[in-house]
Amino acid sequence: MTIQFLDPTGERYGIPTYPYRLAPAGLFTAGQLTEMGFRPAFPTAPDAQLMWLSSRRGTGTRTALLYWAHKSVQKTPVTTGQLAALERANAARMTCLDCGRNVGYVIPVDLGACLDCGPTYRKAAA
Ligand SMILES: [Zn+2]
Repeated sequence: MTIQFLDPTGERYGIPTYPYRLAPAGLFTAGQLTEMGFRPAFPTAPDAQLMWLSSRRGTGTRTALLYWAHKSVQKTPVTTGQLAALERANAARMTCLDCGRNVGYVIPVDLGACLDCGPTYRKAAA
């Protein structure tokens, strides 16, 4: 029985505590929040915890910290500046060093030039 871990007021364990699988909807672990594109609003204490008996020996307990989804923050979206930088970097990788065209595909590093210029460019450099 895991009723010993049911402590919604946190009287016994310090923070609201629920048995495994019995936490109220809206409480998630940091990992679950991350998967949903959120993160706990650090720095913050966890809002609750899960507690369950270690399945390995039946002795000792394990805990997982929980955070309210509505108190978490959405991860910072990529800024337009970051997007522009990414675009510039991509453009640079697709620009032929020989003819200077953006050829629309990533220039093979060993060629350093587009596939049109590649063979002659490599000859010229050799
Ligand atoms: Zn070229």
